[in-house]
This record gives sequence, C-alpha cells and structure tokens, in this order.
Amino acid sequence: MTEELKARVCDAIDAHADDIVAFAKDVQAEPELGYKEVKTTAKVVSIFEGLGLNVETELAITGARARAGSGDFVAAVLGELDALVNPDHPLADPDTGAVHACGHNAQLANLVGTAFGLVASGVVDDIDGSVEFVAVPAEEYLDLDYRRGLHESGDIEFFGGKQELIRRGYVDDWDAAVMMHAGSNTPEREVTSNFSTNGFVGKFVTYRGTEAHAGAAPEEGVNALNAAMLGMNAVNALRETFRDDDHVRVHPIVTRGGDGVNVVPAEVTMESYVRAASIEAVSEANESVNRALSSGAMAVGGDVEIEDYPGYMPLRTNQTLASLYEANARDIVGPDAVTEGRPHLSGSTDMGDITQLVPGLHPWTGGFDGAVHARDFRVVDEEMAYVVPAKLTACTLVDVLTDPEAMNDLRAAKNGKRSRASYLDAVRSFRGTVTESYREDAESDVREE
Ligand SMILES: [Zn+2]
Ligand SMILES: [Zn+2]
Repeated sequence: MTEELKARVCDAIDAHADDIVAFAKDVQAEPELGYKEVKTTAKVVSIFEGLGLNVETELAITGARARAGSGDFVAAVLGELDALVNPDHPLADPDTGAVHACGHNAQLANLVGTAFGLVASGVVDDIDGSVEFVAVPAEEYLDLDYRRGLHESGDIEFFGGKQELIRRGYVDDWDAAVMMHAGSNTPEREVTSNFSTNGFVGKFVTYRGTEAHAGAAPEEGVNALNAAMLGMNAVNALRETFRDDDHVRVHPIVTRGGDGVNVVPAEVTMESYVRAASIEAVSEANESVNRALSSGAMAVGGDVEIEDYPGYMPLRTNQTLASLYEANARDIVGPDAVTEGRPHLSGSTDMGDITQLVPGLHPWTGGFDGAVHARDFRVVDEEMAYVVPAKLTACTLVDVLTDPEAMNDLRAAKNGKRSRASYLDAVRSFRGTVTESYREDAESDVREE
C-alpha cells in the first residue's frame, strides 16, 4: 500500500514538473533578503491556494504556512525564502546585489513540489497524519543592521527566521521537520543526508581609542586599530587550545579600520562568529575569545565593547528520517546516490535550532555546480535540482505517515529534545555585552551585562 501511495505521489510531481521548474525560476528572478521576502512569499501562497489549502501568512514578518491532512502526528516541510548578497553573481539583482546563490529557490521548489505530490494526488488524505508546508523567512545571517533595527523595534527577537518561528510557538506541535538544501559543488545526482553542523554566536566588536595626528603627534593618540590587531592575534594564540572534536571556527573581519591615513584610528569595528559543535563548546570558546579580544584594548589603553548576538544552534540529524530518505534516494535516484559516512560540517544553519526541539532532516542534494554563495553557483540539472527532491521528501513522509513504528520512534526522539522554554534559555544565553575600559585616566572599569 505504501508503494502504491508513493507511486501516486511521484506521478503527481511529474505531472506538475513544468510548474515546479517555472516556479523555481520565477523565485530566482526576484531574489529578496531575509525578513523582506514579500514577493517570494506571495508566489508560494499562490501555489498553496491553487491546491485549495488554507494559508496563514506573516508568520515572522514574512513567511507562510498551510496544513493538509488530518491526524495528531504533524510532519513539517520547510523551505527558506531568502536570498543572499553577492553582487558579482551574474543573476544578482542590480539594485540590491541579492541572488539565490544558496539555492533557496530550489528549497521552495521542494516545498511546493511536495505539496503537489501529497495534495494534488489526494494521498495526504490516505495517510495517518498532517503535513504542514512552511515557507520560512531569513536563514542567511546577514543584512544585520536591518535585522538589528527589527530587533530594536521589537518586530523580531532573533535574526534567524526559524528561531522566530520557534519563539512564536509555530513549532510546538511538530513531530518531525524536513527540508533539503542545494549541495555545494554537487552537479551529480547525489544526496548527503546524515550529518551534524556547528552552532555559533555572532559578534560585533568596537575598539575605541583617541585620534591624533599620525605623523606629528601619535604619542597623544590611542590607536584603536592596534588594539584590534592585538585582539585578533590573541584570538589566534588561543587556537591551539580548541579541541579537535569541538570543531571551533573563529573568523573575524575588520569592518572599519580607520578613517584617514594621517589620523590615529579612534574607532575600529569588527564582526566575527564563534562556531563549535555543541552549545557548551560555543559558550566556552566564546568566553575565551571575548577575553582575548579585550586584551587588545588593555594593551593600548583603550576601550572595547563586544556585543554578542545569538547565532544558530548545532544541527542534529534524526536517524529514522535519514534512513527512510536515503532508501527513497536509492530507489528514485539510483543505488549509488547516497553519500556514505556521517560527517560533521563546521558551517551552520537555523535548521539546527529546529532540530534542538524536533527530529529533523536537512539533506544536501545535487544538480548544482559551483560553491554555494559564490559567483559561479548555478543549477546544471533542473530535474535533480528542482523536481527529484520533492519526490524524496514526499515519499519519506508517506513512509513515516503510514508506519506507526516510525511515528513512535520520532515521538520518542522528540521527547528527548529541548522544550521551547529550554531552547529559548539556551539561545538567549548567547546574548550579552562586554564593555571594558583601560584608559590611563579612567578607573579600571570592567562590567558585563
Ligand atoms: Zn547560504
Ligand atoms: Zn542556504
């Protein structure tokens, strides 16, 4: 019976293959950044409404969801709405530099394709559970001044769209959550589904000194750029203390290095992430990094302010979902389609946050050449990029929602995960400000809040 349902699902997806590809290209043609995905949301809504679904919008500024089927067990299918900025990409929007160079338009093709498969076929009414189709805002962690503004005005608490969905309670009744992601440099028909990723904290650092004539009177200045360079070198001196298993990554950049070459820099700003494989390792590394960064201000007698923002949580893949997905990939794509092994990847995604609460799956699928985010990233196999993943997702959901044992496994896995309250405590623990002053004329003023 399961096989017959899967055949109906795949037939419905094939019947709508042209619609799915056209939709993916339409999204690609009008890329929008996180929490600004108004047109992209409308495109998804139009397909959901065409399938007769009731759609709720503005989940977190943008975003939409629609539920189909019935039954207590709820499986969510997620697709990310946002693009990223790479003005050098040939498909970049000339005004904003936004471009779908992370393949999120393919995720939306997977989302609507899965909806075509399960809803247009009627299969969703023949299985024992509900499927929630969710178009999610803001996965790329960028355009941060805009998001800090949204945070300050109270429109969002978190920079990641999935984090906001969790905070707003949308995720509470999900028993499983699945999506797909474009594989980097993966033109082949290949699927990598079983891996973990790093979590991270995001960081804004400001060093302040005193300006002075750089030639005539540097002795009257306090050089904030020297403080920043010393801080960065102190971070480098920590690297030998990071344990291999923690997969720590610290990669600061200088966003303002000085204003005029003949003036001692009085204000220098940096941004960084501190990433690691577990929440505990992120916290531990972050504390050391903040201490190291502060040492630069101490050395030159200046000030430092470090603002930490919650980044994303480590991703944990659910083994029941991964093994069902991989079995479908072998059936539908071919016997060699699945990458073996269970790697840890040191990048990050806010799907990690979802998997702190709900059993989840975030497979990388092929059909894309070039590295994600790079100017040469592109689709080279439209069927694999846009159509095949929907079959894998829909068939995996049919497997789950026709198998009481799989649903029990997933519910047991969910019981072992964090509650919303415990998740919010953990993610909020990444927020904080360190302010230290080492001015010669000031009392040593060290405070944390
Ligand atoms: Zn990306
Ligand atoms: Zn992405």
